[in-house]
Amino acid sequence: MASQSTFVIVGAGLAGAKAAEALREQGFDGRIVLIGDEASRPYERPPLSKEYLQGKAERDSVFVHDADWYPSHDIDLRLGTVVQSLDRDRHEVILADGDHLPYHKLLLTTGAEPRRLPIPGADAERVYYLRRVEDSDRLRDLFATASRLAVIGAGWIGLEVAAAARTAGVAVIVVEVAALPLLRVLGPQVAPVFADLHRAHDVDLRRGTGIQEITSSSGKATGLRLADGSHVEADAVLVGVGAAPNTRLATEAGLEVDNGVVVDASLRSSDPDIYAAGDVARAYHPFLDKHIRVEHWANALNQPATAAAAMLGQDARFEALPYFYTDQYDLGMEYTGYTEPEGYDQVVVRGDLSTREFVSFWLHQGRVLAGMNVNIWDVTHDIKALIHAQTPVDIARLADPSVPLAEVGTRA
Ligand SMILES: Cc1cc2nc3c(=O)[nH]c(=O)nc-3n(C[C@H](O)[C@H](O)[C@H](O)COP(=O)(O)OP(=O)(O)OC[C@H]3O[C@@H](n4cnc5c(N)ncnc54)[C@H](O)[C@@H]3O)c2cc1C
Repeated sequence: MASQSTFVIVGAGLAGAKAAEALREQGFDGRIVLIGDEASRPYERPPLSKEYLQGKAERDSVFVHDADWYPSHDIDLRLGTVVQSLDRDRHEVILADGDHLPYHKLLLTTGAEPRRLPIPGADAERVYYLRRVEDSDRLRDLFATASRLAVIGAGWIGLEVAAAARTAGVAVIVVEVAALPLLRVLGPQVAPVFADLHRAHDVDLRRGTGIQEITSSSGKATGLRLADGSHVEADAVLVGVGAAPNTRLATEAGLEVDNGVVVDASLRSSDPDIYAAGDVARAYHPFLDKHIRVEHWANALNQPATAAAAMLGQDARFEALPYFYTDQYDLGMEYTGYTEPEGYDQVVVRGDLSTREFVSFWLHQGRVLAGMNVNIWDVTHDIKALIHAQTPVDIARLADPSVPLAEVGTRA
């Protein structure tokens, strides 16, 4: 690509920073402008609900690059800058202050935002959402004074915050509308592990429970009115009901958008000069043979190298299997692969769910679709191999912890 080219990256989170890095690593010597609306330079979000929230990690540890990395790699990093719109015909990005910035290629890494809860009281003071480092700071300050936190939603973030709050000595009630925490992701066989984990740490877990309103007094949250009319008191509320992709720019510019910016395997959108990566992208996955949008750290970390290669005119495809992890109390887990709730017909557990040391597998017609290792490490490579094999496995050997995963073998 000619050195006079300008590549603009909108969204200075992990994916944006990694894209700038990948472009330089892959030899692009043109202009790179990385624009983000946050005040901080790109940082990683997983610590915000874990070690950073618990005060075990410093602010400096969350950044993707040192501050001097950007000038030293000739990246024009514009923080606190909102991109207002895209003018595809003129190949320009329009900033909120009215400035126009020309681009040859554009990458959207605008990420996602927490879903808001459309119930009365959701705007009260002491109702928290967690996405940005400032949100995590506020929550950490809260832990020092609050005696009881109500968490709405037993997804990953809700449960991680519940764990951090309990670790800080705050009483926690978690209210989940589904019958179990993480039911959609883990299914009824494995999801109870997380319910038991939190109960073991004295979390008051209410399942299958809707919420009428967040109650408040003098504008401050005082608790939750549950669907059955009962009231639970709390001096703060965390809403963790999922995230929605930041697709406004793409939608208004007329790009194909469907729960994310729709991109092909090379992360190119319906406009050949515009790409998307990270939480905002709904990418065609060649191995899974479908479009998926993945809201996980590893995706934001790794997709940008593919986007960068494609922006530089190479034939690149993103084919890595989805991977994510969580840490809650003394439970650490990694999940590799992909399945939807109706996509599997068997769950196989190797190890013991009750001791929270196991690997569980989700299978369809004997083929492994996904695997989750809990407090067992260094098996991701083997889980990936089982998924990629796409052949029915020997179930008895898969379930037997004495058989190395690499030697499970196929069904006789
Ligand atoms: C609290 C928390 C904990 C998490 N823990 C885990 C975990 O344990 N494991 C895991 O796998 N994943 C985890 N994740 C998910 C992971 O952090 C995300 O997948 C990752 O941050 C996505 O990166 P991204 O760069 O695509 O988007 P983001 O990190 O959302 O970055 C996008 C950036 O673009 C900015 N932006 C948006 N629109 C505009 C605009 N118009 N103009 C300028 N800037 C704009 C946004 O403000 C944001 O700064 C966690 C997420 C959160 C919030």
